[in-house]
Amino acid sequence: MKKLKLFIFLACLVIFYGCQSDLDHDQKESKAKKSIVTSQHTESELNNKKSMKQKTESEKSEADKENIEKTVYLTFDDGPTSATTDILDTLHQFDAEATFFMLEPSMKELPEAVDKIVEEGHAAGLHGVTHDIYHFYKSEQSALEEMTTAQETLKQIADVQSNLIRTPYGSVPYLTESYREVLDSNGFKVWDWNIDSDDWSLSGDQYVDTVIGQIEELVNAGEAPIILMHDKQNTADHLSKLLTYLAEHGFQTKKIEENTQPYNFNCYQRCHRLSTKE
Ligand SMILES: [Zn+2]
Repeated sequence: MKKLKLFIFLACLVIFYGCQSDLDHDQKESKAKKSIVTSQHTESELNNKKSMKQKTESEKSEADKENIEKTVYLTFDDGPTSATTDILDTLHQFDAEATFFMLEPSMKELPEAVDKIVEEGHAAGLHGVTHDIYHFYKSEQSALEEMTTAQETLKQIADVQSNLIRTPYGSVPYLTESYREVLDSNGFKVWDWNIDSDDWSLSGDQYVDTVIGQIEELVNAGEAPIILMHDKQNTADHLSKLLTYLAEHGFQTKKIEENTQPYNFNCYQRCHRLSTKE
């Protein structure tokens, strides 16, 4: 009997220690699991941090990319004039490109300026002959003739065939659908603008601030600015201020190419023939 009790006691002892060691093992494993979880957790935090860092870097490179791809088109109308050389010199200083919509009589008057525009790698566009709405918009044919004449003169002077045109005062309201069709079927590409510098009426460097304000609005709307300026001395005198702003804000100036998708004012219901309402 005593032996049996002793056996039971020993058996219990063995079972107890056995359980105890299982328990220890479980606890150890659980601790280990916990530490794995902790380390996984830490790693996932690290991954998070890493991905956040990567995201920041990719966002940053997106921003850089955006900066690189921020395009602006500078356009100068009504030249060439005695101010053209100054405009060209300033553009050269900033390594900037521009497009000049020129008048036929002015090209004849200052052929060296036309040559210089082309030689320095800018785009030569056409602005017609008379700059007189009563003549230019008189009929589809008169608009076409003015642009064709300007095209031929440019070709003679600088050996450049340009189809880029800007009609006097922009395409709205007088360039109706039928005018657009005639110009289009003769290969001309009508270019309007989405920023009016008002440089013909503002004095000093005021036009630059006007332009900068509009650039910021357009960029927020995701559009590439096409700036209307004029080939005149006051514009030339303050052009470096505008180009400094553009350079500091990561804008890249581009000239309009023959194959650039033209930007036009939309007629909506605003276009009408000159003769019907004037
Ligand atoms: Zn003009």
